[in-house]
Amino acid sequence: MDYNEKDIRQMVEGVLKGLGAAPAAGGPCCGDPFPVEVSARHVHVTKEAAEILFGKGYELHKKKMLSQPGEFLAEERVKLVTPKGQIENVAVLGPERKAVQVELSATDAKSLGLKAPVNLSGDLSGAADVLIMGPAGCLQANGSVIIAKAHLHLTPADAQHYGLSDGQIVSVRVDSQRPITFDGIVCRVRSDMALAMHIDFDEANAGMIGPDAVGRLAACGCGVSQPASAAQSAPQKRTFTPQWKAPYPSPAAHSRKLITEADARQMKAGIERGGTVRIPKGTIVTPAARDIFTNARIKLEMV
Ligand SMILES: [Zn+2]
Repeated sequence: MDYNEKDIRQMVEGVLKGLGAAPAAGGPCCGDPFPVEVSARHVHVTKEAAEILFGKGYELHKKKMLSQPGEFLAEERVKLVTPKGQIENVAVLGPERKAVQVELSATDAKSLGLKAPVNLSGDLSGAADVLIMGPAGCLQANGSVIIAKAHLHLTPADAQHYGLSDGQIVSVRVDSQRPITFDGIVCRVRSDMALAMHIDFDEANAGMIGPDAVGRLAACGCGVSQPASAAQSAPQKRTFTPQWKAPYPSPAAHSRKLITEADARQMKAGIERGGTVRIPKGTIVTPAARDIFTNARIKLEMV
């Protein structure tokens, strides 16, 4: 069978899509870091549930705003009880939702003897049962317990930056003390979201991930996913700006002024030989990182 150019292009694009590589030719680099936030076990309540647990006409008290716009940690706490065990002092998140949802780690679920499904927040299919106890009353919350599926929140602008779309599944690398790559991360794109990957405590502990951790797409598509049309034209010198300023909170992790060997390797993948990397003045480039750039004949430019 003969394949024409169009067939081949479609096949290549299909393969790249399957790899989770994003079409980011010439665009911003999808290897840029994003915040990784760890969610502790918590309960989302309805208005009715709040009244049962805390009293008639009760309103949750805001203790701390969370990164996702509008969401807050309430001062109120509850206890989770099953025939196999109990967990005290469980956080309650507001504002009230349409359904009661209890998000536990797999370890928590095990300690309560629950078989809970790994679902995205909002999907209660197959969810397990638990008794929630508050200071004013108890609520048997059947079909409420899930183990939250790890996900990446993005605004439409973030999604464009990383070359991702809503529902896309990606792999995320976190270079922590015990480096780890998470597979099956679901992208959730909405204008009322803030850029962050959410994982639970089991996942965080597996990678020894603390506050200010950042993740990067494991298959940064920049070097490999140029559309066939762009690949055919003369190779262009590409530049890479590692410090992408985005309007998300907790910028500390993103203004890191250090380029390590691992960073350099990642950056190198997105730049042609003989290309230039622009980095903010004052950035420390480790000797090993410098070697990587020198060997790839990539020029460093401080801007
Ligand atoms: Zn989330």
